[in-house]
Amino acid sequence: MTKPHVPLRLTVDLPAIQANWRWLDRMSGGAACGAAVKANAYGLGAEKVVKALLDAGCRDFFVTTWSEAQPILHLLENASLSLLHGVSREDVADVAAAPSGVRPILNSLQQIARWKEAAPGRPCDVMIDTGMNRLGLSPEEALSGALSGLDVDILLSHLASADEDVPQNERQLRTFETVASQVAVKRRSLSNSAGILLGSDYHFDLTRPGLALYGGIPRKEGQGHIRPAFKVEAQVVQRRTVRAGDTIGYNATFTAPRDMEIAIVNVGYADGYLRCFSNIGEARVAGETVPVLGRVSMDLTAVQVPVASSLDEGDWVEIQLDLPKASAQSGLSQYEVLTLLGSRYSRGTLVG
Ligand SMILES: *Cc1c(COP(=O)(O)O)cnc(C)c1O
Repeated sequence: MTKPHVPLRLTVDLPAIQANWRWLDRMSGGAACGAAVKANAYGLGAEKVVKALLDAGCRDFFVTTWSEAQPILHLLENASLSLLHGVSREDVADVAAAPSGVRPILNSLQQIARWKEAAPGRPCDVMIDTGMNRLGLSPEEALSGALSGLDVDILLSHLASADEDVPQNERQLRTFETVASQVAVKRRSLSNSAGILLGSDYHFDLTRPGLALYGGIPRKEGQGHIRPAFKVEAQVVQRRTVRAGDTIGYNATFTAPRDMEIAIVNVGYADGYLRCFSNIGEARVAGETVPVLGRVSMDLTAVQVPVASSLDEGDWVEIQLDLPKASAQSGLSQYEVLTLLGSRYSRGTLVG
């Protein structure tokens, strides 16, 4: 049997992801540039993204847990893979026996004790909390001997508000510098995508962007440099004419002001195209930008069709999901727009 046809496709632009990484690497100055590929590379496909980034020269990768490491482990003989959530009771034995490039990022005194017991002398990374109150040792814990007996490769902290110009950034920077200057580690890392754009003080030895690799623009400094890295297209299921005064979709949230042509396309909130795009999202039809009309359904969305257009059943329509723009339209974060894209897509890849 041939593979069933899927009327919805997601195309990942690997050369764009590589170009974004190279730009972030340049912006990181003397620091090496890694890559956050957690959540299946923010939904775009960790395996192909890691391959492309290895080709571009990236050698430091970040996922959340040992289970997320599995699909990419075979690619990483000569690269480093850090587990952001550290090491749990359930996976400590497996992580202790993992290939040597895999290191847990120890986040608490409990995790440190667990690692010392299960894998004495084996390299690890350590996260300190500098004010976000999410994961990591307090500075006091880190400076009171908790790290002794550990072979620490990367000392990390994470910025809570690097996408804003607020005093918290500098406070976190000072706290990180204070701790980093007093503990023996190989490398120090503070910045995500937005942190890289805060300038060289924030770069240390290694940066770890995620969002900007995939086309997200966390700060205006990235505008004009970071390229969109994926495209969503849906097929037209039906074209129809609506008359002036007719309404479109669930709960009749759009009333046609005049006779209109519309296309019902095969994408909906089950595909991560949430209802907040109702009456506000956009699509590209024959080179023109057209609005979404009415409420997004689970599997279908109505878009306007230019009157002269020959668009009809089976034609492909591009859904506007440029991250900064889609985020502004929907009120979702760029991270959410990206990671919500579901599992129904037929997935393809643009290669160089
Ligand atoms: C997800 C994550 C990153 C990447 O952040 P972006 O904002 O996507 O660049 C970096 N560091 C840590 C600790 C993270 O959890």
